[in-house]
Amino acid sequence: MELGLNTPVSDFPGIGPARAQKLAKLGIATAGDLLHYFPRNYEDRRSRSSIIRAPEGEPVCIQAMVAETPRLSRVRRGLDLVKVKAVDHSGMLHITYFNQAYLKDALRSGEEYIFFGKIEVNGRSKQMTNPVTEPVGKNTVTGCILPVYPLTAGISNNLMASLTRRAVDGCAHLVEEALPKTVLRDYELAQSDFSYKNIHFPEHFELLDLARRRLIFEELFYLAAGLALLKGRRSGARGPVCRCESLTSFLDLLPFSPTAAQLRVMDECREDMAGGRPMNRLVQGDVGSGKTAVAAAAAWVAIQNGLQTALMAPTEILARQHANSLRQLLSPAGIRVGLLVGSMTQAQKKDVRQQLKAGDLQLVVGTHALLSGSVEFGHLGLVIADEQHRFGVSQRAALTAKGERPHVLVMSATPIPRTLALIVYGDLDVSVIDELPPGRIPVETFVIGEDKRQRMYGFVRKLAHEGRQVYMVCPAVEDNPDSWEGLPDLKSVTSYAEELRRQVFPDLRVGFVHGKLKTKEKEAVMGAFSAGELDVLVSTTVIEVGVDVPNAALMIVENAERFGLSQLHQLRGRVGRGKHQSYCVLVSSSRSEVSRTRLKAMTDTTDGFKIAEEDLKLRGPGDFFGNRQHGLPQLRIADLAGDMRLLSQAQEAARAVLTRDPNLSLPEHQAVRERIHTLFAEQADIFN
Ligand code: ADP
Ligand code: MG
Repeated sequence: MELGLNTPVSDFPGIGPARAQKLAKLGIATAGDLLHYFPRNYEDRRSRSSIIRAPEGEPVCIQAMVAETPRLSRVRRGLDLVKVKAVDHSGMLHITYFNQAYLKDALRSGEEYIFFGKIEVNGRSKQMTNPVTEPVGKNTVTGCILPVYPLTAGISNNLMASLTRRAVDGCAHLVEEALPKTVLRDYELAQSDFSYKNIHFPEHFELLDLARRRLIFEELFYLAAGLALLKGRRSGARGPVCRCESLTSFLDLLPFSPTAAQLRVMDECREDMAGGRPMNRLVQGDVGSGKTAVAAAAAWVAIQNGLQTALMAPTEILARQHANSLRQLLSPAGIRVGLLVGSMTQAQKKDVRQQLKAGDLQLVVGTHALLSGSVEFGHLGLVIADEQHRFGVSQRAALTAKGERPHVLVMSATPIPRTLALIVYGDLDVSVIDELPPGRIPVETFVIGEDKRQRMYGFVRKLAHEGRQVYMVCPAVEDNPDSWEGLPDLKSVTSYAEELRRQVFPDLRVGFVHGKLKTKEKEAVMGAFSAGELDVLVSTTVIEVGVDVPNAALMIVENAERFGLSQLHQLRGRVGRGKHQSYCVLVSSSRSEVSRTRLKAMTDTTDGFKIAEEDLKLRGPGDFFGNRQHGLPQLRIADLAGDMRLLSQAQEAARAVLTRDPNLSLPEHQAVRERIHTLFAEQADIFN
């Protein structure tokens, strides 16, 4: 069969409609897709030995002749054995297969096979159980470095390996070399056909390394070039010019004097907005560093210039809180602030929409409800997204589309290691608020086991009697034995709150809140807690983001090992916001080494950047950002955290190419252009 890159997998022998569908689930439709379906691991099946020299207990290939007709026996229902003896010049091997009855006829006496498995020695006899078996001369899965692919039900690794083998043999050479010759030469990268061959079927690990290096470099190169293009496209765009000589009248509104870091970042925003091109700035600041004031400053600048501002928050609770505090701050300056969230009545929403369209509201705070098509603005000039990691790039884009190239300010409390921020936010300018408001007392953190639970309850009572408030966070909402694979003792919000109320703290006011409550109920409980009407709030991580109750002085996290470090850091940031010494208690009975190391990191530092780096090391970037929320294209082989050195080389290479050919319009860059287009499929207009 003649293969092309576009040959559908259904043309491959053995692939009917059912299997084709399963392959489609893995994103594989054509021979070309197979080339790009990279192994997740490799198994070294090269080591060969004679029977007599074969090491015990280590995987090895033995070439031997089947010395008898295989014997089939049925031990009991559901358990068949095929037994056979094989010999080479050095000795004899007893082989047993479980539940592979067909081998009784498939293995022929007098023929040679390669058996791959582990040898067990039993007295004087040597044994192998369930070896991978292939006739000599037809080897595809023994005697080689076997690629191990990510699979789905109904597609075995052997099938996958035989499909990629065909694709590699038939069309690896048809993939056009996309990387410019200069780049290949300067960075000593392997050729494309070599790389596809060796990423799937390397003869040595050295060859695999060369292939990997090239493919990773290539992917990072397209990523870096694409992000640079996005950034460049923006620098050509015109945005609303916001003139503002000084922030003094805004600063007079603040009930505190801003920190030097806040002032610096406010100034950076002011300059961006005056510059004539749309601002696209990320403000990173640890929890409690005072990002809201920076957002307010930017809004104030826009509004002074007759433009509207929209602030998008990830939860209703947070949107309401922002709306309240911004109204308090800005209404003395005559600024009208509105709220738009899903739980408002149709009439209320309609009213807000009308005022926005007419330009009567100058600042609107809302949730995703702001993205709705029916929301229109008179003259939207600034979009602010709070807690950025919860919004994708496309959601930000949906909101900015409601204005004419408005300024964009993104605020994130998830500190991203600097090296990574460079690429993740390749199309944003980054400001860091690296200073906390004065007078903050660092939160003291403890990790405890079950044995200290009673003491902890005592501590809760003591603080409550002093007038402080306490958060208790649990991982699950309801008792549901199924959802935690039978893990006992997982504190769940509803039953835990009940237990606390009745048995532990009958003398305290205990409330609970979780994501499944109706918004109204949530609001009521959060409101009561803010107003000091509850001593203890039991909750899920709905309180993770942004909620501000300065009187809360103790954060308890149950089953702390189930949370990511950055998440724990966010949770801890809910306390220590007032003038009281605050505490964070992480409860965990996990004995695993990794859990302990992770939790210990929380007691060692309160620096969000350090914690983020630790988290990244321990969990990798996929988990770190969660669910592709960063909005970056999906990478196939590169690992943003692990391939840092290659990343900076690829960035350098991309920069050099774009300096020479800013729009990639030279003929030798057409292939690069196409690949970037594919990678950034979601940003179809990347090249305008
Ligand atoms: P975050 O960066 O986590 O969003 P906030 O903007 O919510 O932080 O600020 C946290 C708390 O600190 C708020 O109560 C806010 O009023 C207060 N705050 C912010 N900046 C200052 C400052 N410069 N001095 C004193 N308090 C401040
Ligand atoms: Mg905030």
